Amino acid sequence: MELYSGYVNRLVSELAALPGIGDKSAQRLAFHMINMPQEKVKRLADTMMEARSKVRYCTGCYTLTDSEKCPVCSDASRDHSVIMVVEDTRDMAAYEKTGRYSGVYHVLHGAIAPMLGVGPADIKIKELVARCSDENEPVSEVILATNSSIEGETTAMYISKLIKPLGIKVTRIASGVPVGGDLEYIDEITLTRALDGRVEV
Ligand code: ZN
Repeated sequence: MELYSGYVNRLVSELAALPGIGDKSAQRLAFHMINMPQEKVKRLADTMMEARSKVRYCTGCYTLTDSEKCPVCSDASRDHSVIMVVEDTRDMAAYEKTGRYSGVYHVLHGAIAPMLGVGPADIKIKELVARCSDENEPVSEVILATNSSIEGETTAMYISKLIKPLGIKVTRIASGVPVGGDLEYIDEITLTRALDGRVEV
């Protein structure tokens, strides 16, 4: 016997497929949506569609943006010769919040994680190498600001091996960032300290 309508079941299973949403939460959300006024549900659906279709990768640093270049890449007062490599857009936002970094970024969209089947080709590493090889915009330093998890360290090591032969200074943020710490959750002082205390690798 089908306890719920087939439509509700489909909604529950779509929601449950999202990260961090278990079966219970999916059911709660589904029933909440069904009791919402139609126009509110439409607004939610439209907002999701719009975000998905309008948001794209910055052609400079690959962060998520709604124009060709993100605000950081299009800012001429930033130092475009210094590139900070981060795992995702949220890490970039965390560093931007400190207001202490004047270079630009490169967003990898992940970290090398062989156990999860994520290899170097699955994240934006070749794009970084291309940026570092571009003679029109010479790079003086690449700051590796990936997380201090095993995946983050593996990624940092892999990238340094690719970038150093290009004659570019490669640095790693200081270990003020706790092991396994997600950059996003670390306070601004710790981030600033990690950046100031970076060492050449
Ligand atoms: Zn950008």
